[in-house]
Amino acid sequence: MKVLFVTSELAPWVKTGGLGDVSSALPVALRGLGLDVRVLIPAYPGILKNFPDAAEVARPHWLGGALPTASLKEVSTADGINLLLLDYPPYYDRPGSPYLDPDGNDWPDNHLRFGLLSRVAAWLGSDASTMDWKPEIIHCNDWQSGLAAAYLHYLPGGKAKSLFTLHNLAYQGVFGYETLFELGLPQEAWRFDGIEYHGKLSFLKAGLQHSTAISTVSPNYAHEIQTDDLGMGMADLLRYRSEHLSGILNGIDTRIWDPESDHYLQQHYSARNPNAKAANKAALQLQLGLAPRKDIPLLAVISRLAEQKGLDLLLSLGAKIMNLPAQLVVLGSGNVELEQGFLALARQFPDLCSVSIGFDEALAHRIDAGADIFVMPSRFEPCGLNQLYSMRYGTIPVVRGTGGLADTVIDAADEKNGNGFVFGPASSEALLEALQRATTAWSDPTLWRRLQKHGMARDSSWDKAARQYAELYQKL
Ligand code: ADP
Repeated sequence: MKVLFVTSELAPWVKTGGLGDVSSALPVALRGLGLDVRVLIPAYPGILKNFPDAAEVARPHWLGGALPTASLKEVSTADGINLLLLDYPPYYDRPGSPYLDPDGNDWPDNHLRFGLLSRVAAWLGSDASTMDWKPEIIHCNDWQSGLAAAYLHYLPGGKAKSLFTLHNLAYQGVFGYETLFELGLPQEAWRFDGIEYHGKLSFLKAGLQHSTAISTVSPNYAHEIQTDDLGMGMADLLRYRSEHLSGILNGIDTRIWDPESDHYLQQHYSARNPNAKAANKAALQLQLGLAPRKDIPLLAVISRLAEQKGLDLLLSLGAKIMNLPAQLVVLGSGNVELEQGFLALARQFPDLCSVSIGFDEALAHRIDAGADIFVMPSRFEPCGLNQLYSMRYGTIPVVRGTGGLADTVIDAADEKNGNGFVFGPASSEALLEALQRATTAWSDPTLWRRLQKHGMARDSSWDKAARQYAELYQKL
């Protein structure tokens, strides 16, 4: 089966969150099952510089509206995945984040940048394509490629089926009415059961409305987004499409996230021999200028600092975190108030709290290995990857029981299976109570080893998810 996987992020080259990780690991797992998967992604500088010899294989043209003729270049990664790089330097040859300008604002032409990505995906899945390789499935991911399903809907002739995967419903790709024409969509697409969304055009809604099937990244989130509480204004449509909506739990790339071989770590360790984890804690404390305390647990956060992640609940605990007692390490960036708040906390408790603002892959690995407890108080969480990384590294997660967190973390109250701590209400009191339970448990080595053993033994590999995606493609 031939599948075109369309994405706006690809780890390690372009990553702002979980989508980047999924896009690099899932196609490899699908290929392992014998599927012919190619990945379509904008030719950002961060990718192109790794493939200076990329050769053009097609020039999609007459795409409609203001969409330019672009160049498709094909390269093969070390994993054996073929990438189709969508090259149009005026759109993609820009510094920094794929979505934001250096001042942190959305690029003003994002509708064209990701409209072109979507349109070329549809072109590849239609009779118009000049390529020999014809995908049977166009697998779109998040709003940036959501419009592909609408283009496919309005294109004449034979065409591929589409699967639209939601990694986060909060980002909906909403633009003004006038963009309809720039994007080369027909006037008839502007309808309540089309791409119109409260008087605007939404890429995400286009994907939900027009894709052959929809999936999201955990069974629990698939259920939650059909409720008015977590449906982000799309619940009605998702309920309407519920027969075509499923949840497939993300895996993790166990080759990259493995404490037995992770080259970022001070010392390797495993479930059988977890003692060397202590050396990673000491190295992390040294690197971050924290006191070398062995007598108190080290809490960690690695996250986008966004409302979704509930880190304001943690910040509002302030000194209570240190009084648990515990140390705290934060790595993240985003909301300026949260950045400033955590930095102030670190200034107040220099021996106990370290805050690094920015995106740092190496430090993320070292934190996962060196910390004792990983904190994810998310308000909503489609799947969440970091609780999976932390469990694999013997770092016990404390999470809010929402979305994929509820699907993957089992509270310590379950003696046979417990691998973390789960709390309910999105309040700082509930978070504090869970942190108290976790730090108390940390003082009980037998209990702690048991939790670590359960977490480290969890099979989070992509194999199962890849089989589920393959079945879904087959059904389409
Ligand atoms: P989301 O996609 O909502 O951001 P996920 O938990 O699904 O959340 O995935 C986040 C991914 O991004 C994880 O791999 C996490 O380690 C990584 N990450 C987030 N912030 C940073 C950061 N500041 N530095 C390094 N890695 C980060």
